[in-house]
Amino acid sequence: MPELPEVETVRTDIAPVLEGARITGAAIDDPRLVRPFAPEIVAAELVGERIQAVERRGKYLVVRFDSGRVLLIHLRMTGSLRHARSGMLADDPHRRAVLKLDNGSDVAYRDVRRFGTWELLEADELVGYLATRLGPEPLGAMSAARLGRRLAGRRAPLKAALLDQRTLAGLGNIYVDEALWYARLNPLRPAGGLDVEELRRLNRGIRKALRLGIERQGASLRDYSRPDGESGGMQDEFRVYGRDGMRCGRCRTVIAKTRIGGRGTHYCPRCQPELEVSVVA
Ligand SMILES: [Zn+2]
Repeated sequence: MPELPEVETVRTDIAPVLEGARITGAAIDDPRLVRPFAPEIVAAELVGERIQAVERRGKYLVVRFDSGRVLLIHLRMTGSLRHARSGMLADDPHRRAVLKLDNGSDVAYRDVRRFGTWELLEADELVGYLATRLGPEPLGAMSAARLGRRLAGRRAPLKAALLDQRTLAGLGNIYVDEALWYARLNPLRPAGGLDVEELRRLNRGIRKALRLGIERQGASLRDYSRPDGESGGMQDEFRVYGRDGMRCGRCRTVIAKTRIGGRGTHYCPRCQPELEVSVVA
């Protein structure tokens, strides 16, 4: 599933194609993409809009139009965007929508499992829509103290609390596992029980994992690829995710896998102990 670094990579790739262009044609072939609205009605609303900016908030792509309206695209499990010169998109059985632009480009949305969504919001709806669903951006003005306030009083395991988009926006299964390894924190620790030093490590670990993901243009596993069809390289940087049975790069202990909140969770039992061992100086 695309997480913050993958969505940011898609945004970086697709923004130059979309920004400044006017939509001259729109075809939405999958009613699930825009339900409860009828695909032909949403498509008709999009035609004529000029794209001012393509931004990201959490795992959402935020396509802002000159009119003030916003198209919120969520890729969910397997959604992706492709672009090509007009009429040059390759055949694709998983294509769900195509936008034709006045700059001679076609932009296609494909989605194998069809969980992705397109939501067209009016100008005054965006802030409220996002505020109820998303916490702050982890790469924005985030500090250990602010992170501590967001986790305070929570008994849920760290892993579960960080997957909750209302804690921080944009983290998913891959980057939470990676961040907790960098932070040397066990994923089962109660989220509200970290001390100041641990919160500092967690804040740094989250930023490190996400920045590396952006730098490597996302992780290409199964269905994620970039709008130009290229792959990301983050899968080569994984320290624990998908590496159960292999050795930790820091201490050579065999990486373990467990399930937390139904999600496969990878960690080093030695670097990320469940209980803090007090060290006598
Ligand atoms: Zn280790």
